[in-house]
Amino acid sequence: MTQVVPSFYQSVSDYFDKAARHLDLPAGLLQQIKVCNAVYQINFPVKIKGEVRVIEAYRVQHSHHRTPTKGGIRYSNHVNQEEVMALATLMSYKCAIVDVPFGGAKGGVKINPWEFEEEELERITRRYTTELIRRNFIGPSIDVPAPDYGTGAREMAWIYDTYRTFKGDEIDSAGCVTGKPVNQNGIRGRDEATGRGVFYGLREACDIAEDMKKLGLTRGIAGKTMVVQGLGNVGAHSARIAQDEGGAILVGVSEVEGAIYKADGIDVHELLKYRKETGSIQGFPGAQFYDKKDRRSVLEFECDILIPAALESQITGENAGRIKAKIIAEAANGPTTFEAEAILNKAGKLVIPDVYLNAGGVTVSYFEWLKNLSHMRFGRMDKRFNQQNYNNLVDLVAQYTGREITEEQRRLIARGAEEVDLVRSGLEETMVSSYLQIREVKMQKKEIEDLRTAAFVSAISKISNDYQNMGIFP
Ligand code: NAD
Repeated sequence: MTQVVPSFYQSVSDYFDKAARHLDLPAGLLQQIKVCNAVYQINFPVKIKGEVRVIEAYRVQHSHHRTPTKGGIRYSNHVNQEEVMALATLMSYKCAIVDVPFGGAKGGVKINPWEFEEEELERITRRYTTELIRRNFIGPSIDVPAPDYGTGAREMAWIYDTYRTFKGDEIDSAGCVTGKPVNQNGIRGRDEATGRGVFYGLREACDIAEDMKKLGLTRGIAGKTMVVQGLGNVGAHSARIAQDEGGAILVGVSEVEGAIYKADGIDVHELLKYRKETGSIQGFPGAQFYDKKDRRSVLEFECDILIPAALESQITGENAGRIKAKIIAEAANGPTTFEAEAILNKAGKLVIPDVYLNAGGVTVSYFEWLKNLSHMRFGRMDKRFNQQNYNNLVDLVAQYTGREITEEQRRLIARGAEEVDLVRSGLEETMVSSYLQIREVKMQKKEIEDLRTAAFVSAISKISNDYQNMGIFP
C-alpha cells in the first residue's frame, strides 16, 4: 500500500497547533496568526516560440502584523496554492524568530525554469511583476520579493527594472525587491547568505558540548561528516562554507541526475567545477554513483549531518526511520513532514528547523532593503575612520613594546570593515543569538521536546505581542 504524504501546508499547520498548545493565548488571536491574510492567484498569457502559454502564478501575504511583507519567488512545476501558502506562513515565523521586522509572503510561478530560454524567462518574470504592480502586491513598503528555488539575482534584476519602469519616480524604488545583483543596488554577501546562515546555525548547535554528548558526538563541527541533497544556491554555499570555514567533511551529494557517496570526503570546489564542466555529478573521481531513481537514498547514507537543501517533504513517515545522521540541518523549506519529525525525535536526533536555519537569506535581504532605503553602502562612513584609529593603536603598541609590526600583521589588525564584512558579522550575530534564544525557550519549558516547537513558540509569542500592541486583541 502506498503511503499518503500529508501536504506541506498541513505539516506547517500541525507544527503551529503543536506549539500553540504551549502558549496561553486567546483562540481568535491564534487563528489570526495562523491564517494567510491575502492570497492572489493569477493566470496570464505569454507568447513562447510563437505559441501562447497560459502561466499560473501566485503571491501570498501571510501576515501584516509588520509591513512590508517579505518572501521569495519560486519557479517550479510543483507550485500550487497550498505550497505558496505554506512557504508564506513559514516566512512570517522566520522573520519573527530572527527579529527581522517584516510580515511573511511568498510568490510562485508554475513553470520548470530549466525548460525556457533566458529571454522567455525574462518575458514571464516581467509580466508576473506587472500583474503584482497592478494589484499593489509589490513595493518597498508593501511587499518585497527575493530569490527562492529556481530564481536568482538575474530574475530580481528584471523585477527591479520592471518596477522602475512603472514607478521610477518613487525615491525608494530599489527596495521593491532584494537579492539584486550588486551593481544594481544589491548587497555584497546576499548570494551566499542562506548557506552562510546554515553554517553559522549548524556550527552553533555543534558547539554546545552538552547537546552533542546526548547525540553521542564530540563538540565542534570540524571533522563531522555531512551529506547534502540539492547543490543549488543554498546547498552549494552551505557545503562550501561548512568545509572551508568549519572543517566539516562532505561525503554524499544528491542532485536531479543521481547521487554520489565517497566515505573519505569530496572536495566541494572540485565537485562544483566537475558538475559545471560535465553537467552532472556522475563519474566524479573516486565516488560511488547511484542513478536517478535511487537519488533519494542519499538521505539514508552514513553521516553525522544531513542537509536537505532541495525541496519540501523529502523526509517522510516512510523513510525517517532509516535515516542514520544524528543532526538534520533543514536548509530547504519544509523538508521534514510532521509525521517524520515525530519519528526523528523519538530516535533522539537533533532537527535544526528550517524556520530558523535558513533565515540567513531574509536577514541579509533585510540589510539590502535598509541599504536601499538609506541610499548608501554599509561601511562608507566609518571604514577609513576605523582604519586610521587602528593604525594609530598599532603604532602606539610598536612604540611602547619596541617591537617591529610587519605589513602583514598591520593589514590584519588595522583594517576598516568592508560592506561584506559587516553583512557577515550582522548575519553571524543574528544566527548565533537566535539559536541561543530558541534553545533557551526549549530549556525553560521542559515539556517542549524539540527545537522546532521552541522556534514556533518563540515566533508566535513575538507576533502575538505585535497584535496586542496594536490594540486589536486583548
Ligand atoms: P536552487 O534552485 O538554487 O537549487 C535547488 C537545487 O536542488 C537545484 O540544483 C536542483 O537541481 C536540486 N534538486 C531539485 N530536485 C531535487 C531532488 N529531488 N533531489 C536532489 N536535488 C534536487 O534553489 P535554492 O534557492 O538553493 O533553494 C533550495 C531550498 O532552500 C528551497 O526549499 C528554498 O525554499 C530554500 N530556501 C532558499 C533561500 C534562498 O535564499 N535561495 C532562502 C531560504 C530557503
